[in-house]
Amino acid sequence: MYDYLIVGAGLYGAVFAQQAKAAGKKCLVIDKRDHIAGNIFCENTEGIHVHKYGAHIFHTSNKEVWKYVNQFVEFNNYINTPLANFQGKLFSLPFNMYTFYQLWGTATPDEAKAKIEEQRSKYKGIEPQNLEEQALSLAGDDIYRMLIKGYTEKQWGRNANELPAFIIRRLPFRFTYNNNYFRDPYQGIPIGGYNKLIEALLGDTEVRLNTDFNDQKEYFRSIAKKIIYTGEIDRFFDYRFGPLEYRSLRFDHKFMKGVSNYQGNAVINYTEKEIPFTRVIEHKHFEFGEQEDTVVTWEYPSDWKIGDEPYYPVNDEKNSLLFEKYKSLAQSDSQVVFGGRLGEYKYYDMDQVIASALKSAQNILENGQSE
Ligand code: UDP
Repeated sequence: MYDYLIVGAGLYGAVFAQQAKAAGKKCLVIDKRDHIAGNIFCENTEGIHVHKYGAHIFHTSNKEVWKYVNQFVEFNNYINTPLANFQGKLFSLPFNMYTFYQLWGTATPDEAKAKIEEQRSKYKGIEPQNLEEQALSLAGDDIYRMLIKGYTEKQWGRNANELPAFIIRRLPFRFTYNNNYFRDPYQGIPIGGYNKLIEALLGDTEVRLNTDFNDQKEYFRSIAKKIIYTGEIDRFFDYRFGPLEYRSLRFDHKFMKGVSNYQGNAVINYTEKEIPFTRVIEHKHFEFGEQEDTVVTWEYPSDWKIGDEPYYPVNDEKNSLLFEKYKSLAQSDSQVVFGGRLGEYKYYDMDQVIASALKSAQNILENGQSE
């Protein structure tokens, strides 16, 4: 009999396993895939860590989380400075003095602010109800049209005026020459790759791969006192109230022999709608790699249907209401706790996943309660 069955060997599951193990508990981790690390899994190709399920850059403002991860792996000093390609021209991201200079030739903050005021004046005073209104009232017409609308609509497969405003507030908007994509004081990529972090968190905890909880629910319920479930909450309940919506992705990975530097940057976004991919990732630049070859990935957003990989929860009103129904159902099942991006149906960053797993582990391990 296990104290905890942890379903999913991704970041949430691995952090929970580490905490439970430290408290002397017996855990079993299962994962339906043939590898650990969930969507932060990297494949080693000629010494380049290829982010197989999309680029992940660790960043946080949470000092506890930063201290926590640094116990298990060392981080390099990579700072994410993506570029945007719009109709063949390059622009700096996030929206900052470099971007404004490239767009309008404004060299000082006062000049840039005057231009932005002119750009957004007609949207002033409206309380933004959706992503489009939020972007226009923040940045005005040019930035919205060139750097936001096309990218957002292909990323999410719906009009920007049907998306929640919070999504665009993830991006900084600043009047300094600073291309750091994140606001957080701590940032980097684990030296040796993300798998190393997950391996260290799992330690000698028993892991069974190629094992789908949903194929043997009753059996798995019978072998553990408590279950930590990090898969899709709606799938756990056999889509009883109907499926939640997710956005999926497709990746086209290319190994390029003899090409040492394909695009000169780890991340380049393609912001026009007519180009079907959103980003091109050159993985070696996350680690300052000097190999003779390179691996480049084209990232295509795609519709999701049951059976596809879910990447992004669609946290709009309709899905949030549906999620609440599943959450109530979940609360009536005292054996199971749901966690992570899929279990909590939240557009979490990695540090938020860790904070959530630590909090829930603390509650459960100390009080036997999930919250
Ligand atoms: N976004 C955009 N243009 C860009 C990059 C991002 O309009 O060049 C918007 C888009 O709506 C996206 C959101 O900002 O969904 C959040 O971007 P982020 O890079 O945080 O997304 P993630 O890395 O989680 O896919």
